[in-house]
Amino acid sequence: MGRQPRKKVYVLYTGGTIGMAGSPLKPLSPEKFAALVASQPGFSQDTLTVQLEEDKPTVIDYTLKSFKTPLDSSSMTPEDWVTIAEDLLDNYEGFDGLVVLHGTDTMAFTASALSFLMEGLDKPVVVTGSQVPLQQTRNDALRNMVSAITVAATSKVPESTLLFDTKLIRGNRSEKVNASFFPAFESPNFTPLGKLGIDIHIDDSIIQPLPPAGKRLSNEQNRKKLSSSLKEWSLKYKKFSVISLILFPGIQASMVKAIIEETKPEIKGAIIMAFGSGNAPANQELLDYLKVAHERGIVLVDITQVMMGSVNLDAYQSASGLKEAGAVSGYDMTPEAALTKLIWLTGQGHSQKEIERELTTDLHGEITREIAEKVDAFWDRIASKKIKAG
Ligand code: ASP
Repeated sequence: MGRQPRKKVYVLYTGGTIGMAGSPLKPLSPEKFAALVASQPGFSQDTLTVQLEEDKPTVIDYTLKSFKTPLDSSSMTPEDWVTIAEDLLDNYEGFDGLVVLHGTDTMAFTASALSFLMEGLDKPVVVTGSQVPLQQTRNDALRNMVSAITVAATSKVPESTLLFDTKLIRGNRSEKVNASFFPAFESPNFTPLGKLGIDIHIDDSIIQPLPPAGKRLSNEQNRKKLSSSLKEWSLKYKKFSVISLILFPGIQASMVKAIIEETKPEIKGAIIMAFGSGNAPANQELLDYLKVAHERGIVLVDITQVMMGSVNLDAYQSASGLKEAGAVSGYDMTPEAALTKLIWLTGQGHSQKEIERELTTDLHGEITREIAEKVDAFWDRIASKKIKAG
């Protein structure tokens, strides 16, 4: 039997703690970071050697490129998500998988955004970073980076994923949950796609299926098409106008009104991070204002500010006010997935109705379809009984 060709992985360093040094921490230059990576155990300038099966060494070729000016991820913008997607697309061919090294602060946003931006993805994209810089002796950076390159090279997970500590998580299900400890990311509403211990276990049964043959990014024409869409979106994202509102006890209509009326360019959509299963205060002035905003064309999405569980717009009277105002349910989407999806959808010139339809549809595993269907079917049944009883 002939030898298998060596696996190839593209690695993009965008910044973040993983490549930082100093006090206070700031990103190393791309050259310094590349030299630091090459000096790590198992690494050379362009190879990583890992023991995968029965201690047999596997050599993976990697190519490391970098943002010209690496960023602390707290300064990332939607335009940067597009820059990352464009770069991954430019380096798609010839690699088995792609890794993005990123700060942890907004990593869940980027991993979510890539799941929507990179339509037709048929290779693994693994986003990772660390809580402690690679430059420090006691770090989580080396393990996360080695695991990410290994998963990108060897796994059949054609999705945007986030790998951190012991978990491989679907990107649009990920949330940062810890600012101080190594297990910093969770997948609150969906089982992790993989667990990383002594061995790496991937649950093949829950991986997103490959896109239809005619839509895959391995095809050059599809890459060209997406590339020109990304250029358009990049311009639109300079002026995107979507907000995220966290409801809190006592929130006043005038506060929400000020944010929506004063923002330029005009707001196109708002994520409402409501209480519990999607509830809002019974503040008629607030609900009336939201209704006016919706009638003016603003998309309103109701998601829960609670970490786990789903919105159910029909469970309590306090949620029906939002529903009457025109809000659609974001079901169990994370705030990061809801926001990035809304920004992505509003950048495409869809009508309000189309955006609302897409938002409530599971596109890339970001909504638990069964939950959405069960919630809707249950309340449809209740509604039909009420009609019959009446
Ligand atoms: N502020 C850093 C960043 O997000 C935090 C980190 O990477 O852990 O870039």
